[in-house]
Amino acid sequence: MIQGIQVETARGPIGLEALGRVLVHEHVFVISPEIQMNYPQEWGSDEMRIADAAQRLNDLKAAGIDTIIDPTALGLGRYIPRIVEVARRTDLNIVVATGLYTFNELPHYYRRRPLVGTAIDSMCSHFVQDITEGVHGAFDETGRGVRAGVIKCATDTPGLTDDVERTLRACARAHRITGCPITTHTHATTQRGLDQQRVFAEEGVDLSRVLIGHCGDTDDLDYLQRVLDQGSFIGMDRFGIDGYLTTDQRVEVVAELCRRGYAGQLSLSHDASCYIDWIAGEVPLGALPNWHYLHISQDVVPALLAAGVTDTQIDAMLIDNPARFLGSAAGGGY
Ligand SMILES: [Zn+2]
Repeated sequence: MIQGIQVETARGPIGLEALGRVLVHEHVFVISPEIQMNYPQEWGSDEMRIADAAQRLNDLKAAGIDTIIDPTALGLGRYIPRIVEVARRTDLNIVVATGLYTFNELPHYYRRRPLVGTAIDSMCSHFVQDITEGVHGAFDETGRGVRAGVIKCATDTPGLTDDVERTLRACARAHRITGCPITTHTHATTQRGLDQQRVFAEEGVDLSRVLIGHCGDTDDLDYLQRVLDQGSFIGMDRFGIDGYLTTDQRVEVVAELCRRGYAGQLSLSHDASCYIDWIAGEVPLGALPNWHYLHISQDVVPALLAAGVTDTQIDAMLIDNPARFLGSAAGGGY
């Protein structure tokens, strides 16, 4: 691993070697801000939620995980000053995101607000600001602005609508300006990862600096190999969401991809949260008992080892690959 590379976190920059074991896709809070501002009964208080989140992340740290990438972009209730406060109360590192999460249309703000001539530019300039200057209102203990460490976008069942394609291109351009790596949400069974790779490639993105997310939601190995063979990392990042695939099925797909030689491009996570207001109740939710931060440490890693995955391959998925992904930002823009 190259010494001296820094990665941005909610407590400021840290050395690449300090990332340790990384879960590449975990949210802290996923909320609907306008609902919470007007109907805060379930959320309760910021203080209570921040203390609860710090406790859950301390438990994750105690289980052997050192860093999470939190891809909570605009559209998911992103509010980084609150994440900074959580980060102050835990030793676990949190990498925060810029970008936009939409399955279909742009927010009205962007649709009618071109800055330099197209709707892409107003979005892209916001993303670049988050990466180069820091996120508004978010400062580490030295007073330096907290920077986004990843760019997030999404492509779901509606596919590449005009606005989704605009969003992907804005993310690609922010990446090319800054070097900040791209992480995505996809609908795996409709092979949206290939659509994303095509748009990114058209924008001149080096696909080895992209993590195509939610690939663990399918056991279509032909699709996964097509994504992998273009050089991207893939997220086996929804352990505990049994509605797409069960943990046993997800483990078997990871083990098979390791057997086929792809351990150097896989990453693990749950896509879990401390609190998500999309579903009523507290995590772990009754219908998804394994959808919490500790499932991989407690259950998945032992199951992978039992399925023939080696310790070296586990370290690749939890340590080496996330470090290469996040460290690629040091390559700068292009
Ligand atoms: Zn997510």
